[in-house]
Amino acid sequence: MPSNNITMMQYFEWYLPSDSTLWNKITNDAKHLENIGITHLWLPPAYKGAGGVNDTGYGVYDLYDLGEFDQKGTIPTKYGTKDEYINSIKVLHDNNLKVLVDIVLNHKMGADETEDVLAIQDDSGNRNISLTDAKPIKVWTKYTFPGRGDNYSNFKWNWTHFHGVDWDENTGTAAIYKFYGKHWDENVDKENGNFDYLMGADIDLNNFDVVKELKEWGKWYLNITNADGFRLDAVKHIRSEFFPEWLENLTENSDKKLFTVGEYWSANIDVLNSYIEKTNGCMSLFDVPLHYNFYRASTSNGEFNMSQIFDGTLVKTNPEKAVTFVDNHDTELGQALESWILDWFKPLAYSLILLRKDGFPCVFYGDYYGVPEKEIPSKQNILDILLRVRKYFAYGEQYDYFNDNNIIGFTRLGDYDHPNSGLAVVMSDKNGGSIHMNVGKNLANTVFYDCTGNLSETVYVDNDGNGIFYCKDGSVSVWIKQGQNVN
Ligand code: CA
Repeated sequence: MPSNNITMMQYFEWYLPSDSTLWNKITNDAKHLENIGITHLWLPPAYKGAGGVNDTGYGVYDLYDLGEFDQKGTIPTKYGTKDEYINSIKVLHDNNLKVLVDIVLNHKMGADETEDVLAIQDDSGNRNISLTDAKPIKVWTKYTFPGRGDNYSNFKWNWTHFHGVDWDENTGTAAIYKFYGKHWDENVDKENGNFDYLMGADIDLNNFDVVKELKEWGKWYLNITNADGFRLDAVKHIRSEFFPEWLENLTENSDKKLFTVGEYWSANIDVLNSYIEKTNGCMSLFDVPLHYNFYRASTSNGEFNMSQIFDGTLVKTNPEKAVTFVDNHDTELGQALESWILDWFKPLAYSLILLRKDGFPCVFYGDYYGVPEKEIPSKQNILDILLRVRKYFAYGEQYDYFNDNNIIGFTRLGDYDHPNSGLAVVMSDKNGGSIHMNVGKNLANTVFYDCTGNLSETVYVDNDGNGIFYCKDGSVSVWIKQGQNVN
């Protein structure tokens, strides 16, 4: 069997209703996802969060409660119950999809009890500077899990398992508090002087008991879910030595080759490449610089230099480690990293991640199904076309035509494993136009059509494989051999 392109989908967005139906929705969608060419599904964090049924999962309360215990006012999580979760993964596997689970180990929220501790207040803009001496404060750091008890683990968290918090219950003050005798980890992002602390109670990943417990939990979680890999949350806030060790421990205990992608939110390509090196290549990273290039292009009214769309990106400098994406749950309107790519540019951006040779592309649920809460329409029509083009036609050698500020293009010459494969893509962020491009000898003397439906003309490819391919203003056209169906 020929090997087909792999494609990831992030199967959630921030504003999903808190109706505990996502796991069942996935179960019902599995066959359709396989059909459109999705091979990997990234599922949201499945454990009980501090916000109960409203928590997206990133405000982790109990890593062992996958919607099974009556905690935080609910048995199911925002996405459903544990049984529904495990069943959805099984059904995805039955439909040949691999499952990546979301791992949040930087912080915990929603402690059961307070503790009195000594802490030093650090400057929030530069956490290397202390503003006070050690003083007594009251903190939410004691996790006893009364609803779960000792099921699966009898580990109870207390302040010694954390570095610090951002709330003193005594005085009702929000500030960066580092516990007396603790230090922020060194090998973390340098933003704010030291970006170990992000939110909630920051987990001390130097604490022997914590590391042991999280390794045990990882084995339990992998065993119970049968997942195929991980999406690691907030890795820039976690010392870079932690995850290689954690992943190696899991790999030793698994017969699967686990795929891992980390969320290192930085647009600085040197920082990303340095992290990949420091972590010995044990994980891919999301291509954040590419997202910001797309964002600038979409918001520049045609003044972005499209020939530089891949400049400074991971997919250009380290393609084997790049998970390319257009938007995600954090870049949505109203979210922490809001940088939503405008609608008109979405087909261009998706063509640039789905149809090219390099990168492991990830399609966002909020693009595919829309974001009703923000009145963002579904782009399923164009995405179905681009996904099928990726599945059947985006193969073979690639020629780039990135020579103009506005109109750029590329071709794929096809391969023998995928009949009639090969394509030509032309796009412009300003005026429409054409590029003279070559699709290779195998596609010589054929007629191409624009399968996006944006243009109804056809293009003749001559004896040498050359043709003149068009696109409209602020638009993309994807040309494939006439007679090939993408519906
Ligand atoms: Ca941290």
